[in-house]
Amino acid sequence: MIVAIDGPSGSGKSSVAREVARRCGLTYLDTGAMYRSVALACLERGVDPEDAPSVAEVARTARVEFVSEGDGQRVLLDGRDVTAQIRTPEVELAVSPVSANPEVRETMVALQRACAASGDVVAEGRDIGTVVFPSAEVKVFLSASPEARARRRAVQRRGGNLATGDDVDVDAEVERAILADLVRRDEYDSSREASPLRAAEDAVAIDSSELGFNEVVERIVALSPVLAARSGEARS
Ligand code: C5P
Repeated sequence: MIVAIDGPSGSGKSSVAREVARRCGLTYLDTGAMYRSVALACLERGVDPEDAPSVAEVARTARVEFVSEGDGQRVLLDGRDVTAQIRTPEVELAVSPVSANPEVRETMVALQRACAASGDVVAEGRDIGTVVFPSAEVKVFLSASPEARARRRAVQRRGGNLATGDDVDVDAEVERAILADLVRRDEYDSSREASPLRAAEDAVAIDSSELGFNEVVERIVALSPVLAARSGEARS
């Protein structure tokens, strides 16, 4: 069973995909973390993110792995834990040209398909339903207004938890900077030639601006009798 969840930055994909995976006993695959890890490897190796052939070489030689930890997951780059480092503004600036590189995408898509060899996966990204798993049983395109997305990212950065609804005070200046970065990355991701961000024709569109976290998760689980049954089994 493959569940593909695509959408722009900050649409809530990661938290939602993780929760759908947990409830239904599937493996969660965060493909954005892979592109972020390659971007970090470029910064660490002194490779210009715009230097396409060198970046492609970094993607081929960097070893990106996921290890489960409790309910969560750690990201390893060449054996080192980089879970926190791949979320910094420096990596966020570098990741767009890295992920627009067709050779990088080829390497990452092969890795993503290998990660899903078990066949039971919730994968989230930008091209999961269109390119990586075009025959996924469930496809969702999750969006939200730019303001709602910026607010969620700001809350997450301050340590708030979207899944439990924990809220925190957010600096308006920080929120504006996050909004500007989201809009910039969305434009880059949507206008690039290689696998631009777009909904698969058979994806179910969900706008999460006005929906609570649990409502979004429940709508996705309800899209497939198999998912609904698995979530019931996992609970009982
Ligand atoms: O989802 P996340 O914000 O972690 O993704 C980081 C970046 O990786 C995105 O801005 C996008 O450029 C890229 N990405 C992609 N294709 C995916 C997942 C992420 O191009 N499947």
